[in-house]
Amino acid sequence: MSYVKSLTCKECGQNYEAKAYHVCEFCFGPLEVSYDYDAISRSISRESIASGPLSIWRYRDLLPVEGSDYVSLGAGFTPLVRAERLGRALGLDDLWIKNDTLNPTGSFKDRVVSVALTRARELGLKVAACASTGNLANSVAAHAAWANMDSYVFVPANLERAKIITTAIYGGNLIAIDGNYDDVNRLCAEIASEVPDWAFVNVNVRTYYSEGSKTLAFEVAEQLGWQSPDHVVVPVASGSQLTKIHKGFNELYRVGLLDKEPKVRISGAQAAGCSPVASAFDQGVDVIRPVKPDTIAKSLAIGNPADGYYALDIVRKTGGAFGSVSDDEILDGIRLLARTEGIFAETAGGVTIATLAKLVKAGVVQKGEKTVAYVTGNGLKTVEALAPTTGPTITVGPSLDGFFDFLNSQRRSSK
Ligand SMILES: *Cc1c(COP(=O)(O)O)cnc(C)c1O
Ligand SMILES: [Zn+2]
Repeated sequence: MSYVKSLTCKECGQNYEAKAYHVCEFCFGPLEVSYDYDAISRSISRESIASGPLSIWRYRDLLPVEGSDYVSLGAGFTPLVRAERLGRALGLDDLWIKNDTLNPTGSFKDRVVSVALTRARELGLKVAACASTGNLANSVAAHAAWANMDSYVFVPANLERAKIITTAIYGGNLIAIDGNYDDVNRLCAEIASEVPDWAFVNVNVRTYYSEGSKTLAFEVAEQLGWQSPDHVVVPVASGSQLTKIHKGFNELYRVGLLDKEPKVRISGAQAAGCSPVASAFDQGVDVIRPVKPDTIAKSLAIGNPADGYYALDIVRKTGGAFGSVSDDEILDGIRLLARTEGIFAETAGGVTIATLAKLVKAGVVQKGEKTVAYVTGNGLKTVEALAPTTGPTITVGPSLDGFFDFLNSQRRSSK
């Protein structure tokens, strides 16, 4: 049972059958899944969701699939934690962290990949593929292994060792390309048109893939007791996630799951070393100028963001803002989150927290707003970013004297 009506061009409104199409034949605009919301309203309820699985699939009526044969490692339903300590440090009274570091392969990408491969299998596509700088590679390789699908994951050859190992372990084909991410991405677009029976999760099934990000809004609303927050801060790479969080809150209201129309201000977070959307926001222009990324936040390092224009539009429309932060600020953001809330985020999480801090200072995020910061990836993926500055407090010999000399001097200096 599917509530999908069609795939609709975001630019010209042309409708297509719900197959493996991702761009409009007429204007090359991106396609968006359209649903029969009246039918969904009649079938869905807070109770039906509560009795569903503890994963993204509890919202399956609002996801673009027909059956219930899910490709699922259990992505989603991650904790929404009340961040009182971090809130106090930043001067916020009602701050929450959506802790997506706890997904099966350690990032929010498990949400989108689970949806993409479930739909790919329904469409008869048997091979899973992607271009990635890490998180998507991990997730596609793991889900394909579980689903017994062949996989071809393409990455730049100079990727960090940790990301190579955490992808290769799942046993699919890992193809390292001599080139940067943009080279890999372009190659994959070319390969995808040669092998139309493969599911390139971020190319020919991207329209389905991106719908998985709506669950970031669904879960937050349910976990707040079926309320929408006042303000959310979202990391931006291609911009897809940000646009789908916006769509998600609006859909909940449309199908009757929220009593009040959501008025969520949405703010975007980027690394200064790759901030094409934040720059367009600052300059007050609509055109996003591609950049060459140079930042430790590699999972956000897309210089030419496919959904950048739409993300910019939503941030402006909802009264949010964009912020961008330096590599040092990113590391400070990671440390601050770890020391206050006990959550270890990857560099993308550092971008979110550091941008949040900036937006509070600028008066954009306000003290009393119910604010949710999306922390989308696990710190164990990017330890090398912290390695030069993070280590033991002290190294001493294996004797009581050695340790107590240290402890006593520490006590003296803290007096
Ligand atoms: C991919 C990714 C994002 C951003 O996703 P977009 O939808 O491309 O903007 C955010 N955080 C992490 C950890 C990611 O891997
Ligand atoms: Zn079109």
